[in-house]
Amino acid sequence: MKGKPLADRIRAEVAEEVRAIGHIGLVTVLVGDDPASEVYIRLKHKAAVEAGFDATDLRLPTETTQQELLDELAELNESDDVDAILVQLPLPSHLDEEQVIRAVSPAKDVDGFHPMNAGELYLGRPAIVSATPRGVMALLEEHQVELDGARAVVIGRSDIVGKPLSHLLQQANATVTLCHSHTRDLERHTLDADVLVAAVGVPALVTPDMVKTGAVVVDVGMNRTEAGLVGDVDPGAAELAAAMTPVPGGVGPMTIACLLQNAVRCARYRRGDLVYPASSR
Ligand code: NAP
Repeated sequence: MKGKPLADRIRAEVAEEVRAIGHIGLVTVLVGDDPASEVYIRLKHKAAVEAGFDATDLRLPTETTQQELLDELAELNESDDVDAILVQLPLPSHLDEEQVIRAVSPAKDVDGFHPMNAGELYLGRPAIVSATPRGVMALLEEHQVELDGARAVVIGRSDIVGKPLSHLLQQANATVTLCHSHTRDLERHTLDADVLVAAVGVPALVTPDMVKTGAVVVDVGMNRTEAGLVGDVDPGAAELAAAMTPVPGGVGPMTIACLLQNAVRCARYRRGDLVYPASSR
């Protein structure tokens, strides 16, 4: 299940929507100079510019104080030129990430990390949903993977991937098991999975003997190793799986495409085409 063809299509659709709407302002905020964050911001910014967004790549020094960052976000929240705001995580350790996430206006929260957006998802009324889980769902839909009644197992319960994805799968009528670092006998669960998602950050945590023949496997993991970028699933599992996402080129491109879709959604909220948060019902 390659991500790039669908991601390219979504990005082309987004570019059309941006053209139709006119100006859409997306501001990415990077505090400090974490090299991995630099790469992510560069990719997101490039994709946004290519899709026609008015994209601002705001860089703040590592020593930025909490108050300075909050003041900056308050200004962006108020600005009529800004539709969508993304604060790249993780923040330098002296900053309070939770408070910063809460400080972004929920309707401009393109990452969907604000408690308001997380809560709407939890209640089954998704408004702005974080891009990676949305990308996974879009890939499954594109490949016509039956979710209704299926057993879905998600490994990883982070706020940005595992947890929101478990809600989306459950809302698609899958029976969901959410595994984590305290799960006993992980393979007991994975071997039962019709749809298996790994979002852990441990190279090749999922070995072929943990995958049921004919399962659909989604590898969210992006781990930089000496052998290059690898996922959380041993590529050998593809021989047993009915379908599996590659790393790289699977979920990664979908994340960026869905992030841009979220930015269009933010623009529609601000223009009143959609009413926040009751848009997707
Ligand atoms: P995270 O916040 O570090 O969460 C990792 C999760 O995995 C936690 O819930 C943790 O359990 C669980 N875990 C750790 N070791 C485990 C083990 N041995 N067995 C079972 N569960 C275990 O990571 P994340 O931000 O969700 O990211 C996960 C991976 O996805 C990373 O490789 C990241 O780079 C990648 N990622 C990719 C994309 C993309 O676009 N492709 C986007 C985001 C993230 P506890 O909760 O018990 O600690």
